[in-house]
Amino acid sequence: MSAAWRYCLLACLLCLSQLAQAAGVPAVRMQPARDLPQVLVLMSYHYGYSWEDRILEGFEEWGGITAGRPVLHVEWMDTKRHRGLEQRARFAAYLTEKYAGQHFDLVMTADDNALEFALQQEMLAGIPIVFGGINGDPRQIIGTRSGVTGVAERFDLVRTLRLALALHPEVKRLVFMTTADESGVGTRQHLSDALARLGTGVQVEHWVTRRLAEVEGRLAALGPDALLFALGSLPLEDGGRPFSPEELVAYVHARSNCPVYSDLDATVGRGALGGYMNSGLENGRLMARMAQHVLAGQRPEEIPIVYETPLALLFDYRELRRFGIAERDLPRGSQVLNRPPSIFDPEYRHALLGFSGVIALLLLVLAGVVLRGRLLASRQAALHHQATHDDLTRLPNRAWLNEQLQQGKWGSGCTLALVMMDLNRFQLINDTYGHSFGDEVLTSVADRLAGLLDGRTELVRFSGDSFVVLRRLEDPLELGDFCEQCERILAEPFQVSGHRLSVSAAFGATLAGPDEIDRDRLLREADTAMHEAKRERGNHVVVFDRDIHERALRQFRLEAWLPNAVARGEIQVYFQPIVEAGSGGIAGFEALARWQHPELGWVPPPEFIRAAIESGCIRELTLGMLRAACRAFQPYLEVVSRPYLGVNVSVSDIYAEDFPGRVAAILAEERMPPERLVLEVTEDMLLGDVGNATLVLGRLRELGLRIAIDDFGTGYSSMSYLSSFMVNIIKIDQSFVRNLTTSASDQKIVRAIVSMAADLELSVVTEGVETPGQLELLRQLGCRLLQGYIYGRPQPAGSWLREDGLNRETGIRPCADSRP
Ligand code: C2E
Ligand code: CA
Ligand code: CA
Repeated sequence: MSAAWRYCLLACLLCLSQLAQAAGVPAVRMQPARDLPQVLVLMSYHYGYSWEDRILEGFEEWGGITAGRPVLHVEWMDTKRHRGLEQRARFAAYLTEKYAGQHFDLVMTADDNALEFALQQEMLAGIPIVFGGINGDPRQIIGTRSGVTGVAERFDLVRTLRLALALHPEVKRLVFMTTADESGVGTRQHLSDALARLGTGVQVEHWVTRRLAEVEGRLAALGPDALLFALGSLPLEDGGRPFSPEELVAYVHARSNCPVYSDLDATVGRGALGGYMNSGLENGRLMARMAQHVLAGQRPEEIPIVYETPLALLFDYRELRRFGIAERDLPRGSQVLNRPPSIFDPEYRHALLGFSGVIALLLLVLAGVVLRGRLLASRQAALHHQATHDDLTRLPNRAWLNEQLQQGKWGSGCTLALVMMDLNRFQLINDTYGHSFGDEVLTSVADRLAGLLDGRTELVRFSGDSFVVLRRLEDPLELGDFCEQCERILAEPFQVSGHRLSVSAAFGATLAGPDEIDRDRLLREADTAMHEAKRERGNHVVVFDRDIHERALRQFRLEAWLPNAVARGEIQVYFQPIVEAGSGGIAGFEALARWQHPELGWVPPPEFIRAAIESGCIRELTLGMLRAACRAFQPYLEVVSRPYLGVNVSVSDIYAEDFPGRVAAILAEERMPPERLVLEVTEDMLLGDVGNATLVLGRLRELGLRIAIDDFGTGYSSMSYLSSFMVNIIKIDQSFVRNLTTSASDQKIVRAIVSMAADLELSVVTEGVETPGQLELLRQLGCRLLQGYIYGRPQPAGSWLREDGLNRETGIRPCADSRP
């Protein structure tokens, strides 16, 4: 059992006994001390002399029995140091005084001096004695004294000698170092018998001495051809403390170069090579067993003296190695001390396995920690990538852009161009073909934009249908080329899922000088420029400049003001006539909004209409205009020629479901006959949810009013709505009129529209007629209804009524009068 296990067991037993005590149950029923056998233990030498210490250990084990274990009174005679007779007398006096009145059941003695002493003492007369450690024949000491038995110290060097000669075949000298005292005499006697029995031819030397220092000088001369047998116990100097056998062996071992042998188990490990070793422990155990028999009542005479004490066959691995002795040459059953740990050694194997287990566990934990770290890092990287990239196009996203611009990665020494691109009318694509088609378009656009990439360019999907291109420029003048590249990149139509599709985008560009990167400023400027570009359809790049900045500021101010202006009715109604080309009579009026800003003065309608859309008050503006126009139109209701009133409606109005209801209410409140009203809507109304637009238009027409398509030819190119009775009037956009006299293609377009409208039984109004040449040409092309400065600019609503009332037939001033 290993020492560790023994300790564990001991600890467990201790715990159990503590528990038992705590529970009030005595662990072992103890006999009262006075009833226990009383044993005097006499040791010849002193505490620390291992031979006797081990004998005592053997007694104290008491064969593992706890119940009835005797009380041991241990006394040390210390005769190695104090050998004189007067000392014995003093010791006897001490015992007599100490143990006066004490009864002993047994005396146990270790070694010759103690036995001799016990036999001589009056106070111990008649008490049985169990002895141990007597060399030679103990009967010579015991004499006729009865009641004595014990163990003779088995000093048997024959077997060790024979073994030593076999293990060192080359040996030439045998040196026996013995003490010049009574135990030395016995030893030498034994040796000469043994050597005689062996009949060895090797030279034999006896070093007989009283002190070690005497022989010290001769030790160094002992080489591997000699064997030194160091036996007994010696002081270094006269009167000094005697070295124990193991100290003696250690001393000579340190000073000689030959194998050292001895007879006591304690010397192996301290310098002795090994052999058949006398064991104090085994002697003590044997004595304890004999003592138990005596105390049990057996007469010592009946217990024979033991001459054959068990010998331990012990070797020191280090010494074996030192003198080249293989373990296989040792007798069977040899025990080797100090062997380096080996996995074949079961005790070591357990420790090794345990240790390996711990190391493996630690390694596993370490690997786990490392792996976890790696996993976390890669997961973090994956998460970061996911957070900074777009799933659809796999391009970096806005978060990535923010990171880049913030971390100053783009600021080193060159100018940075940032171009923001927003697809035009992408909503239409989504609404028309569905979102997955829209996704495909976006991917195709991203692929196309990838054509811009070179080593100094990065592409980012900024939001739904907007992208950002970042480029390092050597020279700010390169921006022009870059913008052209951007404009060209989308020029070619796309092929998406079998559809041929033109995609255009508005681009807003801005620059940042080296080390002037300000993310917010760059994005704001590019966005402003991009919105500017939005107004001019097609692939158009606007580079941010001071003017744009001013315009954006102005727009901002307008947006802030406008809701109030609408609420307070500050938007005025102007009328512009629509004239019957043949007769010159007024067929109707278009109501146009006018707004005079308190600080900015007259604001162009397209500008404030845009502001109204952006600021969300377009609905109020439209309905307010409708009501004001109807009210202003009241006098014209009486006019015999029955002109109509055209009112502009924005696309977002058409999408409000309650719009027809609101219109109906206004018409009723203002007593405006629906048949006199025309609502002008642009083709863009069909960019969104066509179904809804159709529904609203249908309900409006049910009210009895008419619908005109404004700016015809500039917007959405599907003309299916023309044939589905959704509209009544087409207003040809002024852009076709502007160059009509010189542009054959514009003439062809106008002629085609007029002819188509005739087929579909739609009326046509042509806008923007300014010159007699245009007027003449339009007449020839079959345009009947015309609108333009040639007939009159928009005027305050009432200004078209005849004040003199002369023309009672029409009640309207001739238009030509109004020309500026
Ligand atoms: P629009 O509906 O196409 O209106 C016609 C525009 O052409 C008017 O500009 C008119 O003054 C202008 N115009 C008429 N004849 C000529 C001509 O011979 N030459 C030129 N160069 N222009 C001519 P205006 O009043 O500045 O309005 C611009 C746009 O603002 C309108 O275009 C319309 O889209 C929008 N708008 C004006 N008032 C309203 C309104 O009350 N509601 C809505 N939703 N939009 C309005
Ligand atoms: Ca209009
Ligand atoms: Ca128009």
